[in-house]
Amino acid sequence: MNNPNLPLVYHPNYSFNFDPKHRFVMSKFARLFQEVKTMGLVNNNVHNPETGSPSPLELVHCEQYIWDLWRNQLDIKMMRRIGLPWSEALMARTFTAPLGTLKTAELALEHGIACHLAGGTHHAHFDFGSGFCMVNDLAFAATHLINTKKITNALIFDLDVHQGDGTAAMLKHNPYVFTCSIHCEKNFPFRKHASDLDIGLEIGLSDTHYLEVVASTLESLLLDLNPDIVFYDAGVDIWQGDSLGKLDISWLGIAKRDALVLGLCQKHGIPVATVIGGGYDKDHQRLAKRHAIVVQQAAKF
Ligand SMILES: [Zn+2]
Repeated sequence: MNNPNLPLVYHPNYSFNFDPKHRFVMSKFARLFQEVKTMGLVNNNVHNPETGSPSPLELVHCEQYIWDLWRNQLDIKMMRRIGLPWSEALMARTFTAPLGTLKTAELALEHGIACHLAGGTHHAHFDFGSGFCMVNDLAFAATHLINTKKITNALIFDLDVHQGDGTAAMLKHNPYVFTCSIHCEKNFPFRKHASDLDIGLEIGLSDTHYLEVVASTLESLLLDLNPDIVFYDAGVDIWQGDSLGKLDISWLGIAKRDALVLGLCQKHGIPVATVIGGGYDKDHQRLAKRHAIVVQQAAKF
């Protein structure tokens, strides 16, 4: 049984014409949208964020940095750290996606659950970008909701295989947002920034142990914090076949993880906004299917 009214957030500018051989699969957002459509999950439930610009992101980012980025005035070293070639289309999608995560969170507060078909750019820091991430949608959306008094506290539960260093650093002094990252310890970023809770997993960890860690961690966080919302970064680079992950999680293991996270949030009556996070694959269609898992699980609620 699927909930045909599960709110989805998407913008056509998320994917654009891009080098198909690049490690970052830019087509994955459009492919994911197609995938959830094929699953019958697209009706009148798709919400588009406005097209973005740097102004709203001034809330959490260094103004100089985001405007220099927008105008292609960052130096080569800073662009190299981001790892994506600058283009106007890249800027359009980069500054639109955080508005999408915010919209997803607002929809989650209203409906209990909502899914963004993008988001999770957790390596973006206050004044620099890194690892394909330029602006931090999670830090932005959580801070925005708190500042506008729509919520009093939030949990960012980041299960991308890579540690959420940017989110951790940007929210370090925000007592109303709790950041938790469960990731592979010996993986990018090699210099980590402390989250409120970090769990670094061993290389090659498989389903059973992984799911135990996720379940017990989330259960105790929900009890301790009783957050007004959970931002769930459902990165699929935990998969055993991912080209940048180093864990040994099966396809079914990802589905179990997502069902478990969403189920615990529901059990505690806490709204949850999902973002897709990372995933890397030479097979672009397979990657889109992998990112669709969280949406498929969410549709069961
Ligand atoms: Zn990742």
